[in-house]
Amino acid sequence: MCEVETNLLIIVLDVNPAQRIVRQETRILTQCLDSTIVFANAHLMQSCNNRLAVMTCHGHGCKFLYPQKNSSDIRQIDGQYEKFTVVEHTVRQQLQQVINEIPIDKPLNVESLISGALSMALCYISRLEHEKVPGEKLCPRILVISASSDSATQYMNYMNIFFTAQKMGVILDVCSLDQELTLLEQGCDITGGNYLKIPQLAGLLQYLLWVFLPDPSVRSKLILPPPVKVDYRAACFCHQDLVDIGYVCSVCLSIFCKFSPICTTCHTVFKIPGPIPMKIKKRKKL
Ligand SMILES: [Zn+2]
Ligand SMILES: [Zn+2]
Repeated sequence: MCEVETNLLIIVLDVNPAQRIVRQETRILTQCLDSTIVFANAHLMQSCNNRLAVMTCHGHGCKFLYPQKNSSDIRQIDGQYEKFTVVEHTVRQQLQQVINEIPIDKPLNVESLISGALSMALCYISRLEHEKVPGEKLCPRILVISASSDSATQYMNYMNIFFTAQKMGVILDVCSLDQELTLLEQGCDITGGNYLKIPQLAGLLQYLLWVFLPDPSVRSKLILPPPVKVDYRAACFCHQDLVDIGYVCSVCLSIFCKFSPICTTCHTVFKIPGPIPMKIKKRKKL
């Protein structure tokens, strides 16, 4: 039987208003959205079998923007291919709703819930895997577009997601708009995806089309930006700081930056390291 390959692309767009570049210039978010929509449609244009999902996340939650159940009543008016019109309208309309729903009375959460969005994306992929027709092969990948700063508070969630994605054969790509994202970079390395911190925001669409549009089977034949050396530091479980050298619980592999006599994760009690005990000579029986 002939196998049909379905390339599924899930885009996670971070729209947190607390991102540094967004606070400086609010219009940047519109520019990022425009580039993302063009990129999404470029993916659909490559093959009629390609599938798309667009998600968003911010400091208080994450949501699917596309596909939506009731998007079939959108009609094109300017001669644009109807599928593209549906993507554009649905994403803009849903995003508007998401931004309006961000609570303004609560303080803005600086950290975006990217790990939450990634978990939802993995659940979605798993559902599609169950629903696929015989002879269909699903090639899923996730692209995160974010200008948030790096933070280790979601370290555990990230690690669980990265290894689950690796097991499921999902590729994680990350496009950082502002700062180096060490943890997500580890995820790209683990799952075999591309990581890029774009040098110029004005060229976002070009970078997306160049680095992230080709599907992974083609990427090996392209000359892409050289891979950077991945910073594999882990975050300690006590303060969520990145550490070079730390203490590891021999039972549950939790990482701590300081010695603690009881592991806070599995409650194992350890002996306090003291001087090396001297050998006690056996006393001869009298
Ligand atoms: Zn610590
Ligand atoms: Zn432990």
